[in-house]
Amino acid sequence: MNKTLKLIVRIALLVVLVPLIALAVVGSFKTEGKDFSIREKVIIEHSDSVMYVTVINDPADSVILRTPSEDLSVKAIKSETFRTLAAKMYSTVTAPHQDGVGIAAPQVGVNKRVIWVMRYDKPGKPLELYVNPKITASSSSMIPGVEGCLSVPCYKGSVPRSGKIEISYISLETFRPVTEIVDGYTARIFQHECDHLDGILFKDRADTVYIDEAWAAERKEFEAQGYFKKPDFLD
Ligand code: ZN
Repeated sequence: MNKTLKLIVRIALLVVLVPLIALAVVGSFKTEGKDFSIREKVIIEHSDSVMYVTVINDPADSVILRTPSEDLSVKAIKSETFRTLAAKMYSTVTAPHQDGVGIAAPQVGVNKRVIWVMRYDKPGKPLELYVNPKITASSSSMIPGVEGCLSVPCYKGSVPRSGKIEISYISLETFRPVTEIVDGYTARIFQHECDHLDGILFKDRADTVYIDEAWAAERKEFEAQGYFKKPDFLD
């Protein structure tokens, strides 16, 4: 093969290979994380703005609560389905008959890494949305504190948690990972909600668990008015 021919072959290879490698890299980035399943899309679209909250004493719900959740792909985060899920989860955690300080997607039947956390460390205690959150570091000193859970209604427990954590998640502005250091009660909420994404409930970590009588009485009243009923399409 003469020199000119060799050069042409090399250039041709470059022209073909470079875009192929670039496509493979971009492709692998895009396939990180999953889209919502068809069943999850049905749940998100068919639910009322205040969604049904899964409870541990319902056998089908407990499977969802115990299943580790998957990361969402950037494509899924940019979807209308995601916006609907985020809005409905917000309406659910702030509904008077729920009134939580945080909620995780498995609690509304969706095994994807999405949580709302009440930021006690910010003025006005805003609820903030986090996608693909992970606790990347935590202080070794454990501090006990009282917790409850919308999926374990009427029960509370004393749970030891790290006082300070580092959390990473996907920015909803840049769609890139960011990390943040959080402490105090907000760090406790992050740990509780991230546990949900790994199929763990507060009672698994609690030193003591007891019935909160005031909550039980309040829930009974809401129940009598038809709240907490499981929608037919979830059966
Ligand atoms: Zn919970």
